Amino acid sequence: MKIDGARVAVVGMARSGRAATKLLTEQGAVAIGVDQYPADPSIRPQTAEAFADVDLIVLSPGVPADLQELNAARKRGVPVIGDLELASWFLQGDIAGITGSNGKTTTTALTGHILKESKIPAQVGGNIGTPPASMVDTSRKGQWNVLELSSFQLETINSFHARIGAALNVTPDHLDRHHTLEAYAAAKGRLFETQTRNDYAVLNADDPITRAYAKRARSAILWFSVKERVSPGAYLDGESIVLDNLPLMTVREIPLRGRHNVENTLAAALVACVAGARHSQIRAAVMSFPGVEHRLEFVRDLDGVAWYNDSKATNVDATLKAIAAFEGGLWVILGGKDKNTDYSPLAAPLRERAHSVLLIGAAAAKIESQLNGAVPMTGCGTLEAAVKQARARAHPGDTVLLAPACASFDQFENFEHRGREFKRMVGEL
Ligand code: ADP
Repeated sequence: MKIDGARVAVVGMARSGRAATKLLTEQGAVAIGVDQYPADPSIRPQTAEAFADVDLIVLSPGVPADLQELNAARKRGVPVIGDLELASWFLQGDIAGITGSNGKTTTTALTGHILKESKIPAQVGGNIGTPPASMVDTSRKGQWNVLELSSFQLETINSFHARIGAALNVTPDHLDRHHTLEAYAAAKGRLFETQTRNDYAVLNADDPITRAYAKRARSAILWFSVKERVSPGAYLDGESIVLDNLPLMTVREIPLRGRHNVENTLAAALVACVAGARHSQIRAAVMSFPGVEHRLEFVRDLDGVAWYNDSKATNVDATLKAIAAFEGGLWVILGGKDKNTDYSPLAAPLRERAHSVLLIGAAAAKIESQLNGAVPMTGCGTLEAAVKQARARAHPGDTVLLAPACASFDQFENFEHRGREFKRMVGEL
């Protein structure tokens, strides 16, 4: 569609929306900001009337695609796209898109790090920080755009296609917006449906949903697995990682903890390999990767007790992975704002590896009842009280782990705030 001269509504005027507005204006469109809560008079309230005179609607990732007023516009023939689709019309260079329920940020950051260390031109963005629309100005032919992609962004793509698309895993999350696991899986699967024969799909062979994406893709499939030898692709063979049939490195050389980070490393190594990085470069870059804040981040060792911040563990699957990254002796801080979650899968691993659970936030009572006495539990209310409890009761060799399995919004601004507060409190002990 012709953007020059078009009237385009941009829905959701936070960071992504403002980036889309700027891009549209630069491309000669008349951009009209729309928001549920208009911050200034130039922004239209989000009602059906807001879309009466527009040729195109661009959604920010935070805006559900199935709102009534959007469906009404679609009926009139007005195309509704996401900010990712819009940005892809103008981005120079190839796209490597990474999606999954957990591990996107880590894998995206690691992929960007490997490419940069391998002197392969790349810029990193998407969900991880810079909105795709803001990356257009700095995009170049021959440079990779490494994008962290959410189900919300992928739901609305049509012509967007990734030269390399990677799916890490699909486990229940965001069901408040996608309603069913099938719809959520289908949204992520759009990444592969839009690929062409010249593209590559990097898929987790151990996850039944990502495995099934192979059936929808026309692209060349590359598998990764920590359970079986897969080809073509990358896999774990005992303690060594094999990439494209050649040994890459050992698990112990990966500085990030946990089996899930082996999976993330396999995926990032495959993407980087397709983009032209050599084995020696990939190995060196993985070894020098500093990790991402709030993802199983080591905070400090205090009198023989290790403290870890995994504030980003906002769902049960991430917390399971965090618990599994330690052999035992855990004091796990759980709780926060419930997302209609079933916490019972945590019971068995906690029984096996944890001394105790320290409960905080609004979900405490629900977690306590669903864990059903699997481990001793102490209701602490606040994070501060939990940190004090852990300090008083943990012994040398133990680990205190903040991996709450809940959102943070009951007591904190967001998971970053929760993680920073945790680090501050631990730092002051
Ligand atoms: P995302 O961007 O998809 O939320 P992150 O890299 O920010 O992913 O990690 C989110 C949480 O999930 C963290 O708590 C992290 O420890 C955990 N995690 C990371 N990678 C994986 C994975 N491959 N499988 C399951 N959990 C993971």
